Amino acid sequence: MEDSEQRVQTHPEIEADSCKGCGRCVAACPKKCLAISEKMNKMGVKPVAYKGDGCIGCAMCFYNCPEPYAIKVVKA
Ligand code: SF4
Ligand code: SF4
Repeated sequence: MEDSEQRVQTHPEIEADSCKGCGRCVAACPKKCLAISEKMNKMGVKPVAYKGDGCIGCAMCFYNCPEPYAIKVVKA
């Protein structure tokens, strides 16, 4: 039996401390579901954050990110 409440939805997964806050993924996202957050990471930069919905799993954020471990896409 599947519990739809617990089913993983397609979304970006962000490693905040690896993100340099460059904003390339924000500009590349066709659904505008990423934004630079207000809170700094441990390196003193404001990392990107997922707004919480709207991701279609296109991976444009991943392909435009210059940092190897900052963002990836988890598909449902
Ligand atoms: S996978 Fe696509 S829609 Fe989802 S956050 Fe990345 S760029 Fe935006
Ligand atoms: S996830 Fe990558 S592209 Fe997006 S702001 Fe961070 S370093 Fe830049």
